Amino acid sequence: MTAWEKNIRRVIPYVPGEQPKETNIIKLNTNENPYDPSPRVMQKQMELSVLKKYPDPTASALVDALAAYHHVSNKNVFVGVGSDDVLAMSFLTFFNSTEPILFPDITYSFYDVWADLFKIPYRTVAVDDSFKIHAKDYYGENGGIVIANPNAPTGIAEPLSFIEDILEHNKDVVVIVDEAYVDFGGESALALVDKYDNLLVVRTYSKSRSMAGVRIGYAIGNEKLINYLNDVKYSYNSYTMNYPSIVLGVESIADEDYFRESIAKVIKTREWFTLQIEQLGFSCPKSSTNFVFATHKSIPAKEIYEKAKENKIIVRYFNKPRIDNYLRITIGTQEEMQIFVDFLKKLTDEAC
Ligand SMILES: *Cc1c(COP(=O)(O)O)cnc(C)c1O
Repeated sequence: MTAWEKNIRRVIPYVPGEQPKETNIIKLNTNENPYDPSPRVMQKQMELSVLKKYPDPTASALVDALAAYHHVSNKNVFVGVGSDDVLAMSFLTFFNSTEPILFPDITYSFYDVWADLFKIPYRTVAVDDSFKIHAKDYYGENGGIVIANPNAPTGIAEPLSFIEDILEHNKDVVVIVDEAYVDFGGESALALVDKYDNLLVVRTYSKSRSMAGVRIGYAIGNEKLINYLNDVKYSYNSYTMNYPSIVLGVESIADEDYFRESIAKVIKTREWFTLQIEQLGFSCPKSSTNFVFATHKSIPAKEIYEKAKENKIIVRYFNKPRIDNYLRITIGTQEEMQIFVDFLKKLTDEAC
């Protein structure tokens, strides 16, 4: 090691799911929505004159639209470049205790990466054997809490009473609820934002709004929390959101009917797909998201992952303790899932 390397901030980065260049692939590995964004988003033309200028650093058009949509004040809304940006800023802003922050051992695998990056002490709390999170495991001293609800990659949603239980026992720290998948069937903690000034709810356009490529995430919380977040953000990079994202984010919000229809299609396919694979010997926790977390009674997950890939279907496999016999399968279009079911039928037939 050279002398200067001693002072490097060394991190093991988060590994995102593959984004293959090939186009003839059924891509069920990164929880994107298979349907297009609202036609309003698709049709919106950018004026070139505005692209020359710096965007509004406050992204006020988007903040105002989100505030109106969620019936809160614009002082309660923070926006960022995907919820990854919002979450990273939140970790940096709110998690500065010497006590460890807490999150489940099986959850979004970026939380430990940010904790390491920002040198935040953390402790993971084991979920039970059916992957459920128990609120009582989060009682007691800690430096803050982050919970994905519904959780990923398990797909399990906990009720609002579970979040409130955690909040009731953690009034001295910030509790972040990551609601990346809430639109697919979870119960939102937004209802508790007025009651608990230490609650921050984080959302994204990447899954339910079919806009992963546009990079929009946001947080809703008490005005004080939002002010602290903005102070950190403006100390780092004031122009995080580009102009097209701000404009397209507003368009998506304006088309509620389309949004609801596209979510309903995903949910319908998810329920159908779950029944199909259960008949083939798979089991999975009840999903409230746009993916299912499935394991087969006899064929190892790794083998299914590899064989699917040979057949140009990509799902997500995590080579990690406790979940290395599971696949996280994103719900694609009905046609894509039919092709995947046909593939699984053949595979399970060959196996027996
Ligand atoms: C996808 C995801 C995110 C990040 O989404 P962005 O694309 O950065 O908005 C955050 N949390 C969870 C649990 C996710 O699954």
